[in-house]
Amino acid sequence: MQIAIDGPAGAGKSSVAREVARRLGLKYLDTGAMYRSITYKALQEGIDFSNGALLAEIARRCNIEICYDEAAGNRIFVDGKDITAEIRSPEINKHVSVVSKSPELRSELVFLQKKVADKSRGIVMEGRDIGTNVLKDADFKFFIYASLEERSRRRWKEMQEKGTILSFDEVMKEIAMRDRLDQEREFSPLTVAPGAKVIDTTPYSLDEVVEKILNHIQEHKKFSRDIPSKNATDEV
Ligand code: C5P
Repeated sequence: MQIAIDGPAGAGKSSVAREVARRLGLKYLDTGAMYRSITYKALQEGIDFSNGALLAEIARRCNIEICYDEAAGNRIFVDGKDITAEIRSPEINKHVSVVSKSPELRSELVFLQKKVADKSRGIVMEGRDIGTNVLKDADFKFFIYASLEERSRRRWKEMQEKGTILSFDEVMKEIAMRDRLDQEREFSPLTVAPGAKVIDTTPYSLDEVVEKILNHIQEHKKFSRDIPSKNATDEV
């Protein structure tokens, strides 16, 4: 079972994908964290973001580990160092979509993402090009979005809770810039995959979006077991 979830920044992809994966007993992969990790390394090493060969070399050289624990959520390690907090900084937000334009880097990361999917017995993968490129044959594809204002409001609130002081306008500007770069880039731009179910999450809570996705899967399911209820803890 492969489930692809794509959409712009702040649409709620990570929380939704994680919960869908938990409910279905599938692996979860946040591909944005991979692009963020490379951006972190490139900044540290002072690499020119337009040098795709060097960016791809970082991806080959570094060991990126993404694990999930219930208490801490997603935790990202690069060569053994925990960079979970660092990769969510305004500095990384500012540069990640420029770094992600590189076709050389994308091809390295897509190779790794496909490998993770092949090794798992089922996966929920989220990003920008999952349904269009990484898992073209996914059993289910979703494209989730919300208005720019709503996505900025969610991101701003999240940042406030983590102690990052940015004004609402600054957050909205950063998200709008990333939207533009992600949608307009030449290789694997953010777009709705053919056959994807499109969900506008603006009026819905996280739980409601998760239910919509699970209901869609249940209605069109190609597997025989029922989806467990929200509080079930056993793996499917
Ligand atoms: O999902 P997240 O906001 O963490 O992604 C950060 C950035 O990584 C995106 O704005 C985009 O530029 C890039 N990205 C991508 N392809 C993916 C996932 C993320 O280009 N599959």
